[in-house]
Amino acid sequence: MALSKTSLRHLPDLNDLDAATLEGLVDRACALAGGAPPQVIEQSVVNLFFEPSTRTRVSFELAAQRLGMTVVNIELERSSATKGESLEDTVATLAAMGIGHLVIRHPETGLPRRLMPVLPAGLRLLNAGDGTGEHPSQALLDAAPLRSNGLDFHHARVAIVGDIRHSRVARSSARLFSRLGVADIRLAGPAGWLPDDLDLPGAALFDDLERAIDQADVIMMLRVQKERMSPDDWPDQASYHRQWGLTAERLAGAAENCRVMHPGPINRGVEIADSVADGPQSLILDQVRLGVYARMALFEWLAES
Ligand code: ASP
Repeated sequence: MALSKTSLRHLPDLNDLDAATLEGLVDRACALAGGAPPQVIEQSVVNLFFEPSTRTRVSFELAAQRLGMTVVNIELERSSATKGESLEDTVATLAAMGIGHLVIRHPETGLPRRLMPVLPAGLRLLNAGDGTGEHPSQALLDAAPLRSNGLDFHHARVAIVGDIRHSRVARSSARLFSRLGVADIRLAGPAGWLPDDLDLPGAALFDDLERAIDQADVIMMLRVQKERMSPDDWPDQASYHRQWGLTAERLAGAAENCRVMHPGPINRGVEIADSVADGPQSLILDQVRLGVYARMALFEWLAES
């Protein structure tokens, strides 16, 4: 696979990757999903997750296995982190055992970039979600089903709706969509959950759902990140659904073949109605399916360095 690369070894976010590299990764994920033979990578991976995960952890594990890699999942409650070991020492310990890749999820925003300068030589880091920061592999798996569905990114209207401020998915995916050529990205949510600083070509803020999804080709709904806000700021679920929930009636205001996405986990009846989540326009399970291939493409790309 001829993919160019500007950043060596690590994947803290997608910021240093140029458009050609990003397109190459999305295309490679789609090709793998279509049956292209995967590379064989004779290296090991540790999954180190300091926050709960179903999709991302299992998907990284399956991706590594399909590439022939050895996978170790660390159960945090049984690790030395509970005895007070620093993360740096845990990482050095894993590297001393010859681990080649560290897939890490952590509540601290910016942790992957903070860790990169102190990583032992030979250890590649993949960010599986840092606080409210970034979720680069999620962004790739969001783009891949749209690409395989034939979406023309350059003419697409994409709405990302809900708890934008606390969502690492919104941050990484909006940036990837912009890099892939989407010129109409609508970030919509309650006024207090919109970002203060928006520096993204093609993106605009909306505090009204109907306007944000008007004629949209893609709507990505987000979960309310309760774990990243004080309980005083938790919305009442019924009123949130009334104002911000994607229902079949509201979806009728989008483009005819609008694709509906959600990174999961879904809170049914809160940000999205059952009939939409399970409906014909939903790509939610395609996102999950393509997630394994997106992560395979990332491992292959890192292995080239
Ligand atoms: N699974 C995604 C994440 O880890 C989205 C979510 O949790 O709402 O950020």
